[in-house]
Amino acid sequence: MNPFTYERAADAQAALTLGARPGAKYLGGGTNLVDLMRETIEHPVVLVDVTRLSREIAETDDGGLRIGAGVKNTAVAADRLVRERYPLLAESILAGASAQIRNMATVGGNLLQRTRCGYFYDDAAHCNKRAPGSGCDALDGFNRMHAIFGASEACVATHPSDMAVALAALDAMVTVEGPQGARDIPLTDFHVLPGDTPQIETVLAAGELITAVTLPPDVRGRSRYRKVRDRASYAFALVSLAAVLEVQDGVVKYVRLALGGVAHKPWRAKAAEAALLGAPATEAAFRQAAQAELASARGLQGNAFKIGLSERLIVDTLVKLAALQEQR
Ligand SMILES: Cc1cc2nc3c(=O)[nH]c(=O)nc-3n(C[C@H](O)[C@H](O)[C@H](O)COP(=O)(O)OP(=O)(O)OC[C@H]3O[C@@H](n4cnc5c(N)ncnc54)[C@H](O)[C@@H]3O)c2cc1C
Ligand code: SF4
Repeated sequence: MNPFTYERAADAQAALTLGARPGAKYLGGGTNLVDLMRETIEHPVVLVDVTRLSREIAETDDGGLRIGAGVKNTAVAADRLVRERYPLLAESILAGASAQIRNMATVGGNLLQRTRCGYFYDDAAHCNKRAPGSGCDALDGFNRMHAIFGASEACVATHPSDMAVALAALDAMVTVEGPQGARDIPLTDFHVLPGDTPQIETVLAAGELITAVTLPPDVRGRSRYRKVRDRASYAFALVSLAAVLEVQDGVVKYVRLALGGVAHKPWRAKAAEAALLGAPATEAAFRQAAQAELASARGLQGNAFKIGLSERLIVDTLVKLAALQEQR
């Protein structure tokens, strides 16, 4: 591990001042960043601890929910309003990591956790994300966990967060503060596809600090987060799905679908949503919509199974959500 200094920010302004120092990085729970420092993949010169900031969950004036970036993952999943109004967010967090890690991890850090591609962590491997221009060993290597949507010749890594997938389906907004002031970014635009610059993972500018995530008031219908993985717990998603579905008189009135484990960012299934809106809530329509989305998926030699797996996950989840509404 390289030498570094540690500073604790008393407020957002102090964090921004400290965060503007050369080589500074914000520190949340440290559950990803400290691992990366230990592996000498990240080498910050100054760690700016922001865990004392933005630690509240509060209702907004319009009935939404504002979750501070410093709130621990465990506290989000246990919050009464989250559980009542946004149960898929709680489900997504509880599907990830372990209780001990969730107790440490923060909302801001969870959004910015880095890929779990094995070559990224192995400094003997070629990896454009870790060493731009060096190549991508995953393309012809072990790519079982890798992307089927939006990948490039430069990088086929996936974003590992479960929570971010639920936030994408919930149309959450991310609030950030920086030297130029505060701005709100839709979660779906926050992470970017790899293109030729896989080392760039979000639209955050240098020194910008995440301060909150805000959920809209109106989550309609029924929702669910499901995660398919190699082990029943303590494993990253092969494919996950955050789904929100409202059915009235047998017709889809509202739908939001986001897939995890399939792209460099949470993947909003816009083609499937468009196919479903106004369609009959039948298994055949659900399958057609899933296939419309997956038409643009591209498998590698080790991960092509994710295409069929995604289809089955979407169809089965929507069938179950629709059935819940018929029973009411
Ligand atoms: C063994 C293991 C298993 C795991 N399994 C899962 C899993 O199944 N699903 C899953 O989703 N996750 C999983 N995780 C990842 C875990 O969720 C993340 O490590 C955690 O959410 C990161 O949060 P943190 O607060 O510790 O971030 P840190 O490690 O402190 O920081 C991560 C990044 O965020 C930046 N950062 C932190 N806060 C801010 C802020 N407010 N503004 C700007 N930048 C900020 C840091 O500079 C750093 O770049 C696992 C982790 C481990 C170690
Ligand atoms: S997939 Fe991305 S992270 Fe993995 S080796 Fe290739 S460039 Fe690196």
